[in-house]
Amino acid sequence: MAILQVHQAKALKAMPEGGTHPGLMQELRTATDFALRATKITARSLGKAMSTLVVQERHLWLNLAEMRDMNKARFLDAPISQHNYVKSNSLDRCYVKLISLAEQAFVTLTTNDSYARGAMVLGKSLRNHKTSKKLVVLIGPHVSNQSRAVLHKIFDEVRVVDVLNSGDTATLAMMKRPDLGVTFTKLHCWTLTHYSKCVFMDADTLVVSNIDELFDREELSATPDPGWPDCFNSGVFVFRPSNETYSKLLKYCTEHGSFDGGDQGVLNGFFSDWATADINKHLPFIYNMSSIAIYTYLPALKQYGANAKVVHFLGQMKPWSYTYNLTQRRLRGDVQASSQHGFLLQWWALYSAEVLPALIREYGDQRFNSGCEEEAVESEERVQPLVSSAERRHLWEQGQADYMGIDSFDNIQKKLDVFLK
Ligand code: UDP
Ligand code: MN
Repeated sequence: MAILQVHQAKALKAMPEGGTHPGLMQELRTATDFALRATKITARSLGKAMSTLVVQERHLWLNLAEMRDMNKARFLDAPISQHNYVKSNSLDRCYVKLISLAEQAFVTLTTNDSYARGAMVLGKSLRNHKTSKKLVVLIGPHVSNQSRAVLHKIFDEVRVVDVLNSGDTATLAMMKRPDLGVTFTKLHCWTLTHYSKCVFMDADTLVVSNIDELFDREELSATPDPGWPDCFNSGVFVFRPSNETYSKLLKYCTEHGSFDGGDQGVLNGFFSDWATADINKHLPFIYNMSSIAIYTYLPALKQYGANAKVVHFLGQMKPWSYTYNLTQRRLRGDVQASSQHGFLLQWWALYSAEVLPALIREYGDQRFNSGCEEEAVESEERVQPLVSSAERRHLWEQGQADYMGIDSFDNIQKKLDVFLK
């Protein structure tokens, strides 16, 4: 190009003043033609380079995205134009899906160090089953620094939620209804607006299979509650973060309270058409299989229990309420007969192998309650009720039976057998 320009300049200089020289004019025209052609080729190569960049970007996106291969192929073959890299409507939809895929998360909550152990095991179980989603844990201000450090290792985002000091409408709501403390903390998940869609999971749940397909569902999708199937259980639910929904929920909460004193009552009151409006929002029970099924429909549990994808240790006794013997790999007490025993052992196996070492590292020389015992457990050991029989009866009447421990179905069966003999 520079040589052509020099040649043009020389031809112009050699041109006689006030007249034209046919040979030189021809020379000039040829040089200008060549210059134009060179510019055109440069522009075309720049275009090609740009297109290559776009294709490379596409490859990068597609490798990061969990898109069906069929859609990937359509995306890769799509024409590149100046206005829109993607032409057809279906490809546009793929593109939107692709963008939103990067912004989905599993969310859990813990307000103390006990539930934090549950959250850690849940996070590990999601990772072990190769989730492609982000992991978020909301924590209360009382969670220790050691627990926070371990949570940071497992979760992509650890967000402190201090409802009493958040200085927004939540504080006011909380002052009006101090009884709903943990509930307000849970509702905070709707403020995670940097994610397009989330799945909330209680800290007392355990994932036993990949459940990323839950993100195909819409707000508010959940499983029926085994105690009252026209209500959904709020231990696992799909939702869309939104500040607007969050404000409405807080308003609803302060005006109507919770019919069961917790988040499940509030959420069922707010999403009140769940039972009847859209069957797609009813998740199969295997996504939130609670041990209460042991009482209500044992044959079904035996038939379908093996397909469970999420186990929910709902109720008074949580996995971390038990004591585990590391050497014998068994739980203290008479829980072996319980139908939940296998899942409890699974929880403890994960906790002792993948969470406990991190906790030990964080606590260093400091003592902490690991939940494990090292002494050998006597095989004839009797269960020591954790509560007196009067308290136990009271708990039963409150619907809080220790169905994984002393009140397990098999224990009741044993008692019945004795009476019926
Ligand atoms: N939770 C918490 N701290 C508490 C009680 C509850 O962080 O003191 C959170 C935790 O994520 C828990 C959820 O709220 O899983 C719901 O409570 P829980 O699982 O005890 O209720 P259940 O499922 O037994 O009805
Ligand atoms: Mn729960």
